[in-house]
Amino acid sequence: MAIEAGATLGALQRSLPFDALENRILLGHALGLGRVALITQSERTLTAAEAARLQALVARRAAGEPIAYIVGSREFFGLAFSVTPDVLIPRPDTELLVELALARITPGLRVLDLGTGSGAIIVALAHTRPDADYSALDRSPAALAVAAANAARHRARVRFLHSDWYSAVAGERFGLIVANPPYIAAADPHLSQGDLRFEPAGALTDQQDGLSCLRAIIDGAPAHLQPDGWLLMEHGYDQAAAVRALLAASGRFGDIASWQDLAGIERVSGARLLT
Ligand code: GLN
Repeated sequence: MAIEAGATLGALQRSLPFDALENRILLGHALGLGRVALITQSERTLTAAEAARLQALVARRAAGEPIAYIVGSREFFGLAFSVTPDVLIPRPDTELLVELALARITPGLRVLDLGTGSGAIIVALAHTRPDADYSALDRSPAALAVAAANAARHRARVRFLHSDWYSAVAGERFGLIVANPPYIAAADPHLSQGDLRFEPAGALTDQQDGLSCLRAIIDGAPAHLQPDGWLLMEHGYDQAAAVRALLAASGRFGDIASWQDLAGIERVSGARLLT
């Protein structure tokens, strides 16, 4: 669609080709205006430069690029997170993992986030419970840069480590380990649909059966958990039984359980290291 200078903001919000929320986000981003300003200035008209800027954003969205990458931001757990194509876009489902972790955090507890990506999980935790001790790692230096920026933005004190799973924390133990690892199987057709096409493949799929990273995390956890320490992992909609079986097979865990997300899908599983 052609976007003309002189159109009013109100008319544009109704005529842009996406849903109402996306139209508002793109218009606001092109003009540097927030939600309230867009309403109060609905009679204001677009300059030629603004029309060109908006046109470019609309073209990117029409080509399928996720809105979070276009505007460089996504809200998670009530906080605004910077996102780039180097990191997965935070999902509302993952707030379940944050809630379960918060219920287990006590003052001074050592908390580790494996594969932190944008840092959404660890920053939400450290922002909400600044009285615990936070570490987060990722094998992608570009992701770590995004995570560190998000921690700074929300004044979250987090130690970031460049690490392939536990390699950089050899000999360390934690009271709580959380992870939202790549868990989509290589053959899953969703990888070539929607937003996922634009997200880093390394954050989405293990290039195997979908369980290999979860397996590696469970295998390494007993050597990195304190007695009674919890391991909590997000996983795919159909992986809960398999993850519980892996935890049981290790013989090191008790209180093995899965929890449902808002859609009623078992989305997080975890267990406590037996003493
Ligand atoms: N929940 C994401 C999705 O299904 C995948 C996240 C992940 O692999 N950790 O789109």
